Amino acid sequence: MNFIPYGTQVIEDDDITAVVETLKSEFLTQGAKVAEFEDALNETVGSKYAVVVSSGTAALHIIAMAIGLNIGDEVIVPPLTFAASANCALYCGATPVFADIDANSMLLDIESVAKKITPKTKAIIPVHYGGELCDMDAYEKLAKKHELTLIQDAAHSLGSMIRGKHQGAYSGFQSWSFHPVKTITTGEGGAVTTNDENMYKSLLRLRSHGITRDSSQYIHDGEGGWYYEMLELGYNYRLTDMQCALGISQLKKLKRFSERRREIVAHYNAAFNDLPIRIQHTPKWSEPVRHLYTIRLNNSAQRRKAFDMLRAWNLGVNVHYIPVYWLPHYEKLGYKRGLCPVAEESYNSMITLPLHPKMTDAQVNYVVECVNRLF
Ligand SMILES: *Cc1c(COP(=O)(O)O)cnc(C)c1O
Repeated sequence: MNFIPYGTQVIEDDDITAVVETLKSEFLTQGAKVAEFEDALNETVGSKYAVVVSSGTAALHIIAMAIGLNIGDEVIVPPLTFAASANCALYCGATPVFADIDANSMLLDIESVAKKITPKTKAIIPVHYGGELCDMDAYEKLAKKHELTLIQDAAHSLGSMIRGKHQGAYSGFQSWSFHPVKTITTGEGGAVTTNDENMYKSLLRLRSHGITRDSSQYIHDGEGGWYYEMLELGYNYRLTDMQCALGISQLKKLKRFSERRREIVAHYNAAFNDLPIRIQHTPKWSEPVRHLYTIRLNNSAQRRKAFDMLRAWNLGVNVHYIPVYWLPHYEKLGYKRGLCPVAEESYNSMITLPLHPKMTDAQVNYVVECVNRLF
């Protein structure tokens, strides 16, 4: 069997045509494809405002800036995530505070979060790990009580629903990633969605140097048609029109991609039922489109052995993720191992299996056969 990666993009002829047409058009960046992609995203995720940016990391960064995170502020985040979820706090001088995950769902545990809230806490970043959804209705109550901002890290969860509700229906922000391993891709790319108009205006500025050409936001009187103002220090985090054209084309396939992911997950769940492994549990409120399919073995020694065997059998297995505060940069900042025992135990025992819409039935069966062969 040829190598099967844990995740990969699906690019079809019409995706390529859409990009080529944009290359032949007048605008390669800052053209009409940007707003068109943003409108399509709002439609898909149930939000009012969308701001597409150059990566999911850039999305998290401008959210952190828009809410004014600063030195002394604390942001609660799970450790079982990609470093970018926590790095956005560091970018602004704020402090990531790690709360533990639930052992079954592997999602940020709201009881652990509640214990970590202090007068310095400004935001919570529920990460929809693997495409399973955190209980945003519960987080909304908690956030209201303590006046905190909710930043859903939705990099894994495009297409997932909470109790029949869209992720974009909640307060605060959602950050999305369109990296090739994610549900749809624009090469690199990301987006912020929100329902807050003022925050939307701020995000638009932060995407492009902090500059506005909207005269209602000006500090001084306009001086003519060339005039603009830079109101704060932003970045160039823009997404090109070629990428937006790809995103529009990809978004039309979300339903088909999601159905295939669900089929594979159902197949794995049934096939692994009798094996001595633990799988990620779907909470009762979550209607997921899974991005990751992880299995957990008994301990780290068994995981190491299983990982090497699966790789030897040509499966592109991976591990998601090394706890963020174990990473040397975080160690240097003073974070110690042992902080979140459930996340650490999950990391120590887990393997991510291949899951993407391009997998053939033969490949899915081969993955099942390999996992069985381990035992
Ligand atoms: C991929 C990912 C990001 C960052 O997205 P990029 O587009 O790669 O910058 C953030 N958070 C999580 C959980 C991710 O998986």
